[in-house]
Amino acid sequence: MSVLTIGSAAYDSLDTPYGARDRSLGGSGVYASFAASFFTQSRLVAVVGKDWNSAYSELLSSHNVDLEGLEVRSDGDTMFWSGRYDNDVNKRETLVFQANVMTDYKPIVPDSYRDSSHVLLGNCAPDSCLALLDSIASPKLVVADTMDFYINNMRDELCALLRRIDGLILNDSEAALLTGVESSPRDAARKILEMGPRFVVVKRGEYGAFWMSGSELFLVPSYPTDNVLDPTGAGDSFAGAMMGVLAEAGELSAESIKKALLYATVVASLNIEGFSLERFQYVRREDVDERVAKFREMLVC
Ligand code: AMP
Repeated sequence: MSVLTIGSAAYDSLDTPYGARDRSLGGSGVYASFAASFFTQSRLVAVVGKDWNSAYSELLSSHNVDLEGLEVRSDGDTMFWSGRYDNDVNKRETLVFQANVMTDYKPIVPDSYRDSSHVLLGNCAPDSCLALLDSIASPKLVVADTMDFYINNMRDELCALLRRIDGLILNDSEAALLTGVESSPRDAARKILEMGPRFVVVKRGEYGAFWMSGSELFLVPSYPTDNVLDPTGAGDSFAGAMMGVLAEAGELSAESIKKALLYATVVASLNIEGFSLERFQYVRREDVDERVAKFREMLVC
């Protein structure tokens, strides 16, 4: 089994109550493919520009992320995003977004990726996601992650994408924005199921996350870490880990879904304990398993 992730590879400038970083490694595809690689073969489709630091490719490769699908273009710069977090780290403001080489990105899928079993369409333009999907022979599971930027700016393309995927993963405010349903995240999730996907995963920050399909509802609380330094990439690492565990399990049983939600929560918590991938890069599978065991002990059943 293998997880193919398409998403951004970016430079992020970050400002949080605990410090700041300028042009550090980021991007939805980077966080998600790194998180998936704890569990299964992980492949990344992304584009970067002439200013890309090759040391970042080495970092990802050394964690077994296959970068054959990483296109390095010489005619532009890498995507740049800058964000500032409030004292309540669930609130963030985008200060700068420069798509650069991501503008009109046409993903190139290497032949060696065409047999990918699991596809994670991370945050990138919905039409790039659709183009990528056409290149994959017969994926077992296709999940898309989306964000407010694409809901606000590319709604029609996003709605077309929703009809081609198995699952959608998004946070509660995005679910309300996408559906116009503000009464509760579960009401919004039900409405999303009417838009195409078989299941939806709604992330709710400190309130955890839930998985809903026509017949199932699974809930997971957030892991109570006291060391949040930089929440960037929490959602992407959650999605990548969830797909990694589902690929490792090779089936979509209730048991494997619950395991995927537990591991996704723990991997996201490990990511946000450092800026960018500064700490995350040193996390090993044993550290993840150890924290999952601790998390299980905290749960009431
Ligand atoms: P998250 O905190 O999980 O929402 O992910 C934040 C990451 O997404 C950052 O590393 C950014 O580089 C990246 N990002 C921010 N805006 C966009 C966008 N419009 N398209 C793709 N990636 C983005």
